Amino acid sequence: MSVGPQCMERSDRRWLVRAVLPSADPPGSNGVGPVFRVSRVAVSPPGQSSSLPPHVSGELFLGDGPLRGRFWGFVAAEGGTLEPLDWISMVGPGMYRVLPENSRALDDPAPAAADIDRWSRTIGALNGVSVWRRVVRLKVAVIGASRTGTLAGVTLARHGLRELTIIDDDDVENNSLGEADAFTEADVGHPKAAALAKHIRGILPSSGPYVVNPVIAPITAPEAIQAAKNADVLFLCVDHDSPRLCASMLGVYYQKVVVDIGSGVHFGAGPVPGPRPDDVLPERTMGADLRLVVPGTPGCLLCRGGGLARGVQAVEDLSRGSSTRRPSDFRGHRAGSLRALNQASVGLAVQLLVDLVCRRVSATTWLRLEFSSQGILSVRYPAPAVSSAECPLCARAGLGDAAFNGGPKVDVPFRA
Ligand SMILES: [Zn+2]
Repeated sequence: MSVGPQCMERSDRRWLVRAVLPSADPPGSNGVGPVFRVSRVAVSPPGQSSSLPPHVSGELFLGDGPLRGRFWGFVAAEGGTLEPLDWISMVGPGMYRVLPENSRALDDPAPAAADIDRWSRTIGALNGVSVWRRVVRLKVAVIGASRTGTLAGVTLARHGLRELTIIDDDDVENNSLGEADAFTEADVGHPKAAALAKHIRGILPSSGPYVVNPVIAPITAPEAIQAAKNADVLFLCVDHDSPRLCASMLGVYYQKVVVDIGSGVHFGAGPVPGPRPDDVLPERTMGADLRLVVPGTPGCLLCRGGGLARGVQAVEDLSRGSSTRRPSDFRGHRAGSLRALNQASVGLAVQLLVDLVCRRVSATTWLRLEFSSQGILSVRYPAPAVSSAECPLCARAGLGDAAFNGGPKVDVPFRA
């Protein structure tokens, strides 16, 4: 089983499975490494595996016969000592996590009775506490804390999620107060990430395993990249393609579920500006694109549905290190934003994620909402625009840190 290191912090080492390599040859002899050695056992392995040969980073023992369904795992630590493997996350439908027999990790502690009561209606809608526990266990990084990002952070917290990270390098301005959630006049001049985190802490239970971390940095900053690597899900609430591209790369390279929200209201070329009768309506384009990217199923934001229609410009912006900040005077630059549209978009995007955990959605999905000029809503699931087989990002799926070594030129700005 070929693996790649995702996170080398001593306290939290993670590995991404790249490929299964059925081979009787000693691992590493074919130049592929690092690897996990996998074998079947009919009796419980000793408390500690024997020493591992070079290039072998860990070992899995899969129970056979009467031990079928049980497994044990060990990883090599510095100095050649072996430590227990604590868990395996299976990113995809269900978002399951399984613990080896010798894990030191406690499975999710049973939720407090007060929390079960607090979220009893959500638990009922998810048909049981077990699904809800898989939902609230997800570590979600919300990237962008403006109109949709604030709604997303609050909506996720209102589902009971225990660990949220808010990534944004902007400050709250007066023009942030209108449509966004969570901000007050007292927040003006303070970082959006910190203001949103403070608000979310205020609506979560005062005791229990709840953590809300603000990261006051652009997604290209090392601390933001590290936060994204530590998350299970990246929730993209940005209105520029360059941070969307960066987050999409992190999602593909590190096998994160990505939820992307883009909504807007635009007016086409209609009657010339100026006084006109109220019954002359300009053409209006209003809607949202919601994308759920599930690792292991075809497609990413670059190839699935034109989510990065201005991808070339986004790559150039990133390569030049262009600022992602917008001018403070929005009136000549921004498309319109309607809170009701944003609420609908965020709600449906969160539901896509919840339905992935429920296994009702199992693959990368693109959902498009469109309101006609007459206010009629239509919902479509557009087909992919480009085959993922031709996608430069998908070609590097799951490579983890190694994806930054060479490859597409879009890698340049993101050395972790
Ligand atoms: Zn792709």
